[in-house]
Amino acid sequence: MFQPFIRALVAFLILVSPLFATDLTYTFHYTGKPESPLIVDFRFRVDSSGPKQIFLPDQYGGQKEMWRSISDLEVVEGPIELKPGDLPSLRTIQMKGSGACHLRYAVHGVSGRLEQNVYYWPVLRGDYIHLLGKTFLARPGWPELQRLSVELNWQLPEGWTAGNSFGLGESTQNLSTSLFELQQGVYVGGDFRFRRFEIHGKPAAVALRGEWGFTDDEFAIFVRRIVTAERAFWNDDSFPFYFVTLLPVDIPPASFAGVGRWNGFAAFMPKGVGLDYSFRYLLSHELFHTWNPTKLSHSAGVPPTLYWFSEGFTDYYAYLLLMLERFETFPEYVDRMNGIIARYWTWATRNMPNEAAARLYYSNPEAQKLAYFRGMLVALNWNAAIREASHGKSSLNDLMRALKQRTEEKQEVITQAVLVAEAKRWGVVNADQQMVSWIDHGDTVEIRKDSFGSCATSSPRTGEAPQFRITSDMAPTACDRWFR
Ligand SMILES: [Zn+2]
Repeated sequence: MFQPFIRALVAFLILVSPLFATDLTYTFHYTGKPESPLIVDFRFRVDSSGPKQIFLPDQYGGQKEMWRSISDLEVVEGPIELKPGDLPSLRTIQMKGSGACHLRYAVHGVSGRLEQNVYYWPVLRGDYIHLLGKTFLARPGWPELQRLSVELNWQLPEGWTAGNSFGLGESTQNLSTSLFELQQGVYVGGDFRFRRFEIHGKPAAVALRGEWGFTDDEFAIFVRRIVTAERAFWNDDSFPFYFVTLLPVDIPPASFAGVGRWNGFAAFMPKGVGLDYSFRYLLSHELFHTWNPTKLSHSAGVPPTLYWFSEGFTDYYAYLLLMLERFETFPEYVDRMNGIIARYWTWATRNMPNEAAARLYYSNPEAQKLAYFRGMLVALNWNAAIREASHGKSSLNDLMRALKQRTEEKQEVITQAVLVAEAKRWGVVNADQQMVSWIDHGDTVEIRKDSFGSCATSSPRTGEAPQFRITSDMAPTACDRWFR
């Protein structure tokens, strides 16, 4: 009498087993001994459909040859051989049959002090590790966005906790993810201190080490507040987990760096700094990259010719959201923008065409900063144009949310043409001419008199940067409606 049941069970198992099959397993072994590498084992199956190649870390944020951190890539077991590929970051898979493959390689950490741009390299120390997926994951050559069942195993020194963009404190993690998301993840372990909390019912955590001018709880509370604000802005709570790391590095006190990550971001700050405005600005900016450009472009980045948007619009919102969240007052915000307008006005590269600025982005700090200024001032202009065209009903914020919806629904990536089309739809009638002039040619971006609504105005000053002063005794909370 059990036979039908068993037959049904077998049929059921055959049916569901592909769901449980793991496409890719990584096992990370680290001893913490001086100079010891991180040993990575990874396993997947090959058949006639592929994969045909193995990809090593290559380029990221202007850094090249990141495969130099990887050595001793070998086939431990499986019906394949690895041959050199067309690039140093590629290996060609030569198949001798179908079946399971087991590959292994070593990851070497950056030595010495942790200087600027340390985030391009794996950090492997006696008491902790800090890695961005882009810097250390070798991977089969599957499509980056394909959904995969992935298992991560962490074999770390005793007492270490692993934390990453996918979870906290688990030595084995089973994920439904993609190669894109894995590479966008941040991975830590060791003497990081973790604080867990929830945002709209979804788990989140911060991981930090070292001494700071604030407590771990103060950091967690700030992160929670700004993440909540930015999710509310985008109307997007689709985050199974959210993870923010803070690593103390040996950079000058006034400098700071961060990179937006999948479901979070990694911040690198000079040891001991406090939770002051510049720190808050950094977190606000990096967090916004979760959407611009990551979600808007379905990839880690956009071409450098679009950095004026991905950095500039992000910067506009990094400052704006801190004001709207009452981390500074409306007059303080206007003052801050006056400072930025004044810097832009005398900026050496102010009228550099976009192509040239994009080409020099990673080698010329003034060309790099231009993308931030230019995009922010276009954003300020478009916000005013949309408010005017809609008689105060809409703002740039509506355009941004529409852009997210559009890129999601059409599986489209943002381009200058998409931005122009959306801007025109929201009432920026001259958006195409503006892009040709302000972006392509590099003409000075027009600062509209109504950039800050009716609460502030600028008096014309020939040849000098427009500067705004508060002219209204309206409550700041009424003034900031212009930006809501
Ligand atoms: Zn940025």
